[in-house]
Amino acid sequence: MKEELKPDSQNINFLFSNLRFLDKVGPKIGELLQNLTNSNQVFSLLYHFPSAVINKSYLPKLYEVLDKEVVIIKVKIDVINQPKISKHPIKIGCSNTTGNLNLIFFKVFPGYVEKNFKVNSEIAISGKIEKFNHGLQIVHPEYVVASNLIDQIPKSEVIYPLSAGINQKFLRNKINEVLDKISDLPEWIDQNLLKKNNWSSWKNSLIKIHHPKNSEDFLPDNLARKRLAYDELLALSLANQISRKRINHEIGRKIIGDNSLRKRLITNLPFKLTSAQEKVLTEIYADMESEKKMLRLLQGDVGSGKTIIAFLAMLKAVEEKKQAAIIVPIALLAEQHFANLSKLVKNFPLKIEILTSKATKKKKAKIIEDLKKGEIDIIIGTHALIYPEIIFKDLSLIIIDEQHRFGVLQRLKLSKKGIAPDLLLMSATPIPRSLMMTLYGDMDISILDKKPTNRIEIDTRVMPITKIDEIYQGIDRAIKNNEKIYWICPLIDESEIITKEEADISNVTARYLLFCQKFGKEKVALIHGQMKSSEKDKIMEQFAAKNSTFQILVATTVIEVGIDVPDATIMIIENCEKFGLSQLHQLRGRVGRSDKKSYNILLYGKEISALGKTRLGIMKENNDGFKIAEEDMKMRGTGQVLGTKQSGFPEYKIANLAFDYELLSIANRQAQFMLNKDPELISSDSKAARILLELFNYNECIKLIHSG
Ligand code: ADP
Ligand code: MG
Repeated sequence: MKEELKPDSQNINFLFSNLRFLDKVGPKIGELLQNLTNSNQVFSLLYHFPSAVINKSYLPKLYEVLDKEVVIIKVKIDVINQPKISKHPIKIGCSNTTGNLNLIFFKVFPGYVEKNFKVNSEIAISGKIEKFNHGLQIVHPEYVVASNLIDQIPKSEVIYPLSAGINQKFLRNKINEVLDKISDLPEWIDQNLLKKNNWSSWKNSLIKIHHPKNSEDFLPDNLARKRLAYDELLALSLANQISRKRINHEIGRKIIGDNSLRKRLITNLPFKLTSAQEKVLTEIYADMESEKKMLRLLQGDVGSGKTIIAFLAMLKAVEEKKQAAIIVPIALLAEQHFANLSKLVKNFPLKIEILTSKATKKKKAKIIEDLKKGEIDIIIGTHALIYPEIIFKDLSLIIIDEQHRFGVLQRLKLSKKGIAPDLLLMSATPIPRSLMMTLYGDMDISILDKKPTNRIEIDTRVMPITKIDEIYQGIDRAIKNNEKIYWICPLIDESEIITKEEADISNVTARYLLFCQKFGKEKVALIHGQMKSSEKDKIMEQFAAKNSTFQILVATTVIEVGIDVPDATIMIIENCEKFGLSQLHQLRGRVGRSDKKSYNILLYGKEISALGKTRLGIMKENNDGFKIAEEDMKMRGTGQVLGTKQSGFPEYKIANLAFDYELLSIANRQAQFMLNKDPELISSDSKAARILLELFNYNECIKLIHSG
């Protein structure tokens, strides 16, 4: 049982070393890359997949080029304008027989221009055209060479999703540097399966992913993508099975309670529980009362009323003098739950607390103390609840809201905080029934299949962007009525536009500026994924506040999780054709939360296919998340998937269950087989599997399990 061979372990050390090991990656760039890939380890760059490949227009006529078109072109330099004020750009006027073009440089090294550009010389350049009324320009061309060296300029270019501070060329170079340095890893996929599917090795698949030839390579059935998606599903299956085996082995405790608190709460409710809620509660109570440890998933569409179920289950634990915790992904949701529950259990003989990263040091210390002593009965919190210093006196029920936002590891860490605590996972990600068994086969499942009936249906309308003026009128009316409006765009700003086909996709930055002018700055707020979480939380909170001046929130899809702003009555989704149906449905669920009539306006862009229109029709016809997910799935195989994150299953980095669901059951079986042979994955045969788990960050998970 000899462990690692030398060269191999060097390779592995490199893969898992800090990004700072790479050339030209210092603390600052290191942090930017880390933000981009969500990891500080070298291998994470390999899992940052391209989103497009651009075949550049080769020597097009300047009078024919389009805005945002990427070109390779020969021009003669006519004039070099050095600015009088050094902050202004350097402008180089060029031309050829087909037209004129300016090259613009903002900050360059001193001497750069003198060295590379001489009046009357001919150069070959490549870059993205920007077209204005008064002419054409390229800002910072990617390549500038003497015109006889034009063949040095690559004719196509791989495009990666970026974030501020990192440019394409640099990222491309870094990824290729890592690909060059690594050797292949020991194979974890079953040989027969590899052959049957025609899959290449791990490294070769990565090389293919990072060097796509044309847009066909971005289709979901790309073999390299499939293999890497399988890797991810196998890692997840292994981690899940290991962690569930542990949970299932434990005997739980009988939690019965005397119904005193629950009864009081129910009489306080402004509504009657639906029959679906009653049914689900019966299932949950039975689990808590039995000796078996509960591991139950509660599936319920947005707005189906899961929160009240969580509250009641927690009260049952408290009636038995035990503690209960509910964890949510963002602070605002914790605050919402805390405010709601506090109101419902006012004057009850119990103590509830809230813990988020916003808590002051003093407050946090007090909560830690009180949890330990058992003086807090119910705690509502974010990730802050997972920290090791949080210890309970006797935690018997853990509820994970929006469970897809939490990983296996976080679930395990929480579970360890109690003695065989019951676990209830709640999710609004509608999962097609056909998938449910494969995904959650060894959990018990409760489904809230009916929504409370007091709702007024949301009026969903599908419209072309050309009708935007009508929508402005609707917004004006809503503003006068003191209602609130969400306006969603796919992109953050113009820099995310990569190809000329994308030139018309809307971005929140431009919309925000426009709406500030149109409706008044005090009325419009902006939120997107590149903001710090504290900043996002603050804006959401301001928008949600009853007395807020903000009435329009311009946002990317960051707002989709669990937010409850009852005065919001209009949800406008621009370029709705760019979103998955399940995602549209989640977004739509942000309105229709009061007795006021609500609208969901799906605005499509100019470039929409017939199929795209059919998909939107499904949104108009259906208001049931499960049905929408099924329909979405039936139409799978039609979109591009690399580099886009549009599915309703955000826990996956590569795999997209809309396309890869058949791989999931195979991965489940392979994982089972591996664990039957080596339950703890400690033999040398399981080395490959251990590396796989590390690639997907489940190593700590395994350590936790081994530690008891
Ligand atoms: P979700 O399942 O998306 O978490 P919530 O629990 O936030 O949904 O419930 C959405 C809204 O419906 C809340 O305002 C809640 O008070 C309300 N609600 C829950 N159950 C009922 C019911 N039986 N009748 C009427 N309204 C209800
Ligand atoms: Mg909820």
